[in-house]
Amino acid sequence: FSETIRDSHVAVLAFFPVGAHAGPLLAVTRRLAAAAPSTIFSFINTARSNTSLFSSDHPENIRVHDVDDGVSEGATGSQREMLEMFLEAAPQTFHREIVAAETEVGKKVTCMLTDAFFWFVADMAVEMKASLVAFWAGGANSLCAHLYIDLIRETIGVKDVRMEETLGFIPGMENYKVKDIPEEVAFGDLDSVFPKALHQMSLALPRASAVFISSFEALEPTLIHNLRSKLKRFLNIPPPTLLSSTLEKVTPVRDPHGCFAWMGKRSPASVAYISFGTVMEPPPVELVAIAQGLESSKVPFVWSLKEKNMVHLPKGFLDRTREQGIVVPWAPQVELLKHEATGVNVTHCGWNSVLESVSAGVPIIGRPILADNRLNGRAVEVVWKVGMMVNNGVFTKEGFENCLHQVLVHDDGKTMKANAKKLKEKLQEDVSTKGFENFNVLLDEIVKV
Ligand code: UDP
Repeated sequence: FSETIRDSHVAVLAFFPVGAHAGPLLAVTRRLAAAAPSTIFSFINTARSNTSLFSSDHPENIRVHDVDDGVSEGATGSQREMLEMFLEAAPQTFHREIVAAETEVGKKVTCMLTDAFFWFVADMAVEMKASLVAFWAGGANSLCAHLYIDLIRETIGVKDVRMEETLGFIPGMENYKVKDIPEEVAFGDLDSVFPKALHQMSLALPRASAVFISSFEALEPTLIHNLRSKLKRFLNIPPPTLLSSTLEKVTPVRDPHGCFAWMGKRSPASVAYISFGTVMEPPPVELVAIAQGLESSKVPFVWSLKEKNMVHLPKGFLDRTREQGIVVPWAPQVELLKHEATGVNVTHCGWNSVLESVSAGVPIIGRPILADNRLNGRAVEVVWKVGMMVNNGVFTKEGFENCLHQVLVHDDGKTMKANAKKLKEKLQEDVSTKGFENFNVLLDEIVKV
C-alpha cells in the first residue's frame, strides 16, 4: 500500500447515544491505523463518548475530535429524545468537525468511514469528493431487515401485521419472524425522526463502496450471499479480541471488581454470567425475578448490573449470596466469557454480546429488550441452536430457574453447549482464512486514494 496511502486522510464518524457503536468502530480504526501508519484517521465522536473510549494511549495517527451531542438544555433526558436531538444536529455538527479536521491535518478527507446510521454522509462524501465506507454495528440479520425496509413495510402492511409469520420473502431470513423485526423498521410512528433516518439509511448504504460488520462469514452464509447482491461490497471483519488464536493483548484486562479472582475458585462451566449491555436493563420486577431465581437455584454468578439499578435488588440479597456470586457495575465481559468456569451467558442478545458468547463457545439464555435483540435471539435459538430465550420474553423466578437448569444441567443444554463449541471452532477457522483476507480488502478500500 505504500504508494497509495501516503496522502489519505480518513474521517471516522462514530455514533454514540444508544448501544455499543463507537467502541467497535474504534477497535477497527485502531487496527486500520496500525496497518496503515501513514494514513491519518480523524475520529469524530461526542465528547462524552470520547472521554470513556480514550482513557489509554492511542496511536499517533488517530486524531480525536469532539462533536456536540446536540442535546439542548431543558431536555428531559429520555434515550429517545437524546437520540432524536443528536440525529437532527448530526449533519451540521459532523460536517463542521470534518472541515476542522482537514484544516488541522492539512489534508482533504479521502474517505469517510462512518457508522451506517448516518444516512447524510452519502451526500457529504460526494460533495467532499471522498469515498464512503459504512460500519453496521449489528449482525447480517438486522442489516438485512433494514435494507429491505420498504419490502417489509409493504409486505406486512403497517396495520395488518401478522406477527408469527416468517420473513421468508427475504432470502436468508426464513428462520426469522415478523415479530423479531426491530420496532423502528415497521411498527409505531414511522414518520418520527429515527424511523425516517433508518429509511434514508437503507437508500444510502447501497451507494457506499463497502459496508462491513463485525462478524464471521460462517455465521449466516445465505444472508451474506443476499447482502452481497444488495451492496457494492459487503465484508465480515472478525473482532480480533474474540478468538484466542488472534488475541492481541494490547492492554492488560481491567478488572477493578475482582471478577477473575472470584471465577478462579469455581468449577468449569458452572457460572452464570449476566449482563444486558451498555444501555438497557430489564424492568425492576424482572431484576427481582433474576435475583430470586439465582438464589433458589444456587447457581454461582457474576452479574454486571448498572449502579443505578442496584437499588432494585431484593433486601438482603447481596448478604445472602455473598458466597454464591458477585454483583458488579462493570465486568470484563469478553475475557469472562472465555473463562473456563463460565457455563452460560444471560444476555439481552445485543450483537456484541452474542458474538462474544459464540466465539467463546458459551451457550445463551436470552431476554431480548430492543432494536436487533429479537433477531439475534432467534438466531441463537433457531439458526445456531446455542441457547434459549426466557419464556414469553420476560423473567420470572421459576422461568429463570428452569432456563438455568435446562442450559447447565439438562441434556438440551449439553446439545447447546456442543453446538456452541462446534460454532466456536468454525469461527476460529473462518478468521484464519476469510477474516484476514476481508480485513485487507477493507484496508485497501479505506486507504486508497
Ligand atoms: N460490556 C462489558 N462489560 C459489562 C457490560 C457490557 O464489557 O459489564 C460490553 C460487552 O462485552 C459488549 C458491549 O459491552 O461488547 C455490549 O454490546 P452489545 O452489542 O451486546 O449491547 P448494547 O450495549 O449495544 O445494547
